[in-house]
Amino acid sequence: MKKKIGVIFGGQSSEHKVSLVSATSVLNNIDTEKYEVVKIGITNDGKWFVYNGEIDYIENGNWIKDEKNLISHGERILFNREIDVVFPVLHGLYGEDGTIQGVCKLAEIPCVGCDVLASAVCMDKVYTKYVLENFNINQASYVVVHKDEYKDRENEILQEIEEKLSYPVFIKPANSGSSVGISKGKNKDDVKLGLIEAFKHDRKILVEKGLNAREIEVSVLGNRKAIASVPGEVVPCKEFYDYEAKYEDDSSELLIPAGLTENEMEEIKLLAIRIYKLLDCEGMARVDFLVDKDNGEVYLNEVNTLPGFTSISMYPKLWAASGIEYSELISRLIELAEEK
Ligand code: ATP
Ligand code: MG
Ligand code: MG
Ligand code: MG
Repeated sequence: MKKKIGVIFGGQSSEHKVSLVSATSVLNNIDTEKYEVVKIGITNDGKWFVYNGEIDYIENGNWIKDEKNLISHGERILFNREIDVVFPVLHGLYGEDGTIQGVCKLAEIPCVGCDVLASAVCMDKVYTKYVLENFNINQASYVVVHKDEYKDRENEILQEIEEKLSYPVFIKPANSGSSVGISKGKNKDDVKLGLIEAFKHDRKILVEKGLNAREIEVSVLGNRKAIASVPGEVVPCKEFYDYEAKYEDDSSELLIPAGLTENEMEEIKLLAIRIYKLLDCEGMARVDFLVDKDNGEVYLNEVNTLPGFTSISMYPKLWAASGIEYSELISRLIELAEEK
């Protein structure tokens, strides 16, 4: 009998739309000779549906209007043990942060990707720093700003940022993805505005020293025995890789392989695997680095446990360039979830 895979899409995060695109690719490429697919959609306000309609209606959001093909209380399918493996093709809040992984765990259904702890630690950019700085992983210097404290100590905090980091800085909601709520600050006023914007998305903000750096990304696959892909490089079409440069303007470039020497590539691959293991990642993650343009110093930027997954996204493209094509990659991820 075919294994039943619950592919979950949508969700309550600011990356809902990105998830619809990623999930459409997964649904169009999953090996249907091997797997029976159950499509599970989560609306922006958190309602779960089993969706029996056309895949084509997912990407544009019209699946939710396709009422005759919707079965409400889609979450029941998990607790009724009606599926064998969950593939959460969700990004950001309630998808990438350990919450859905926890639901699957309670329902005793294997879930593709990282478990609760690794998901939560990687989603929270501040906690990623806290964990990895114990292992001397090079990361940009930073200041953490909490909304409640900022209200009372605004000037002091702005001063600390200026003195500790100098400009430019990057202002990031601790739990962010797809660059939502992220801005670059070149002076105190920018930082003030950037914090106001970031506080719309999170109560905890990471302000980081801005580096003049190349962006190098490595795909890692596996449980304890993980492998790394050839590194790729992002060349944003804008001043930094913001939401628009990622999804709305197609002039950003992805270079595969990255423009590094063989030695540099091997080093960065080993570093990616080391970080993956330190964070207890399983299944997959895209480990992103910043490499200083002047002196080649390598910094970890962040770890994405459910990276963009369209067939033209970096994670699957790096695997394609390393010999694992898209639908094979999906099958491997499902097998890794069952092995955990
Ligand atoms: P993703 O969509 O990959 O999950 P994200 O929303 O988690 O991204 P980051 O990768 O942390 O956000 O930052 C978004 C972009 O901002 C980076 O791709 C890079 O272009 C720029 N950036 C972030 N931090 C720095 C930094 N310290 N120095 C220079 N550029 C930075
Ligand atoms: Mg990220
Ligand atoms: Mg992300
Ligand atoms: Mg990023």
